[in-house]
Amino acid sequence: MRCWQASCHRIPAGPEHEKQRGNEGKMKLNIVCIPGDGIGPEIVAEAKKVLDKTAKVYGHEIAYTDVLMGGASIDACGVPLTQETIDTAKGADAVLMGSIGGDTTTSPWYKLAPDLRPEAGLLGLRKALSLFANLRPAVLYDELADACPLKKEIIGSGFDMMIMRELTGGLYFGERYTTEEGGVRKAVDTLTYDEKEIRRIAVKAFEIAMKRNKKVTSVDKANVLDSSRLWRKVVEEVAADYPEVALEHMLVDNCAMQLVKNPAQFDVILTENMFGDILSDEASMVTGSIGMLASASLNDSKFGLYEPSHGSAPDIAGQGIANPIATILSAAMMLRYSFDLDKEADAVEAAVKSILKKGYRTVDIMSEGCTKVGCKEMGDLLADEIN
Ligand code: NAD
Repeated sequence: MRCWQASCHRIPAGPEHEKQRGNEGKMKLNIVCIPGDGIGPEIVAEAKKVLDKTAKVYGHEIAYTDVLMGGASIDACGVPLTQETIDTAKGADAVLMGSIGGDTTTSPWYKLAPDLRPEAGLLGLRKALSLFANLRPAVLYDELADACPLKKEIIGSGFDMMIMRELTGGLYFGERYTTEEGGVRKAVDTLTYDEKEIRRIAVKAFEIAMKRNKKVTSVDKANVLDSSRLWRKVVEEVAADYPEVALEHMLVDNCAMQLVKNPAQFDVILTENMFGDILSDEASMVTGSIGMLASASLNDSKFGLYEPSHGSAPDIAGQGIANPIATILSAAMMLRYSFDLDKEADAVEAAVKSILKKGYRTVDIMSEGCTKVGCKEMGDLLADEIN
């Protein structure tokens, strides 16, 4: 069964459309899009609009291939992820996703077995694409400072950090079991990292720090855990190849405090899977605006899957009021990290800042005296801002 949305399928993925940089730095980009469920198709449409405008201004060419995943794939193909979607994604230069899933209490998708539910599609795709590095920026925009739950004196002039979380190792992937010994129930989870797993994520973190403010804070629990002691050693070995980047180590409990005490001290936070799970949510919350939070998951080439941190917001789907900015900022991350198009990524991020400064807001970030706009209008404003 064909599961591509044929109407959106403009140019097929394949080697002939692989990323090419011409003499004047013009590129031909082959992007697979997963609009997904709920507000997903609405926000992805606006991200494409902004990407298209950026490509036009800077002279690049973008070919999109839309594929199904999550609930939309269950409805069309009976499963949340097909081999065809995996193969198409693998043939692309990068993947841009909206969000998948529905209302977990009312949607029939959640009456299915866990491995047939929408989220199983995303986990399967991340695994199939070997996406081991998760990046979540936490940026506080001056204009949205009121949404930040921290005191003004702590916010200072704002913050802009990147949480880099190892995504495929550690406690969540170690051996686990539950037994009963002498009538006492016992559960075991194991936290394992080998040096290769640590090295590849550390290299990513230093590479990304080179594109930012050249500081890496490596977070561990080296005062207790062997895995953290190895983590520290390997991170230091990698740091030797990046003399321009300042490295500091921080214990995870201290980092949790520092995020709410002095968030501006951070540039790139590098950490393992479970610590990153917790710290990235904490860092997101201090920005206060779920509709603004981008994310990326990368493998050991330039390939990545880019998506907003939020879900499919079934409560507002189809109303045209979703905030597309998280997806648009995820697209900017794609330009920067998959295609090394830093100028173009800067232009998208500058457009977001400028439109917020001009007082335009979607309903989720609306405040007094601002102009309320819908999802499509926000996409139009941002696209127009890129010149
Ligand atoms: P959610 O992030 O979808 O929504 C939480 C709240 O934030 C809702 O009130 C929603 O309206 C609002 N919101 C979220 N994004 C917004 C945006 N861009 N603009 C304006 N408002 C926005 O979280 P949820 O309700 O817990 O989950 C809904 C579905 O999304 C579930 O099926 C869940 O499994 C799925 N989900 C998917 C992903 C993913 O695809 N990576 C991530 C998280 C949740």
